Amino acid sequence: MNIGQQENRQGRLIKKIFDRFTDEAAQEVNLLKSRPDFRPELEYFVDLLAAGRDPATIANRTGRKVVALMCLQAPLELFHVYGLQPFKIFGGTMVAQRLSAPQLPAIMCPMLRSALGELHLDLAGRNGEKFLAWVAPTTCDWVVKIKDMMEVCGVKEDPPFHRLELPHLKDRDESQERWLEEIYLLKTFLSELTGIKKIKRQDLANSMRLYQKTWHVFSRLIDLKRQGFAPLVWFMVITNSFFFDDVEKWSAAVEKALPLFTERPKNGPNVFLAGSPIFFPNLKMLHLLEEAGLNVVMDDLCSSERIFPGAVFCDDLSEHGLLKALAQRYHQGCLCPTFSDNDRRINNIIAPAHKDLYQGVVFHVLKGCHPFDLESLTLESRLKDLGFKFIKLETDYTSEDSQTLLTRLEAYRSSLVN
Ligand code: SF4
Repeated sequence: MNIGQQENRQGRLIKKIFDRFTDEAAQEVNLLKSRPDFRPELEYFVDLLAAGRDPATIANRTGRKVVALMCLQAPLELFHVYGLQPFKIFGGTMVAQRLSAPQLPAIMCPMLRSALGELHLDLAGRNGEKFLAWVAPTTCDWVVKIKDMMEVCGVKEDPPFHRLELPHLKDRDESQERWLEEIYLLKTFLSELTGIKKIKRQDLANSMRLYQKTWHVFSRLIDLKRQGFAPLVWFMVITNSFFFDDVEKWSAAVEKALPLFTERPKNGPNVFLAGSPIFFPNLKMLHLLEEAGLNVVMDDLCSSERIFPGAVFCDDLSEHGLLKALAQRYHQGCLCPTFSDNDRRINNIIAPAHKDLYQGVVFHVLKGCHPFDLESLTLESRLKDLGFKFIKLETDYTSEDSQTLLTRLEAYRSSLVN
């Protein structure tokens, strides 16, 4: 087969996958909109997800150039003050993996395999606009190698690519100093990218205030979930859509949705959901948890409760002081399992203040997601010592294991109520 024939064949495959990808998203949207607890205030979030995540769509909506972000440790406020829209790359579709899987290891993070497949669809898509740049904090090995994987998969993107070397020990002074240097390097990168030579200290403070305000709104939603009023499915539709629009518009829509959550579902018991991210349209696990009669009142997923960090505290209002406060918040406050001194993450799950909120922990692991897989071993023994019930569910981007997962969740529920 010559190069022209190969390109035609690839083009036909992309078209076919694009149609199935659209169907997959549409099916989940229909499922969400046909739920008895669907309300017009939630339509905004569902529609953001349904409209897709290609850079052109996001740029048109926000009026800002879009920078792809691989993990959540790069301060969002910095992108904002440079007039950019950060967009965290999650891959959620099952079918998009078919475009990247043949070139990648058989066992790897399916979330990123799907994201790499989706890049083909973006590029094939609508008006061809690309991400202005890529920013990758070096968290897990799959993220560290993302640029190589893009090349191997034939994703023909060549925008500027900036890595932030993430110190994996949080509590050492040296690590914190190194991370602050990385934040300065990110600032230089964004300055060169946008041609904005100097940002005003006041503008940075305003961006920080904006995210702080958003955090206050978001924390009210978290409280509603803790009290059992906000079902996980809606909570996660809201958080999944966080990067799809201007932060102020998203925040206003959350505020409008808060009064909806006034009724507790009848089923119980309450559980904590930990582990690998879950992202639209692959909301399989959320539907199964609901079907099994488990209420998730807390979670620590980076696509959910951890979608952006809490308020930043700052005594020193100089530019250096603001950057230092951001660096600390995004490094020390981050509960990603890729850190080595990670007791804080486990302590967050077993914190005495949270103990009465839930009876057990459901640990969701994507096959190939080594950081969470490894963490589950430590967590399981700590939880069992404290008398909590623990279940680990390993899954892939497929619907074939749904029945098995449901059976295990139902048995787990029985063990919690008996
Ligand atoms: S931490 Fe897990 S889910 Fe996240 S990118 Fe790495 S392997 Fe994938």
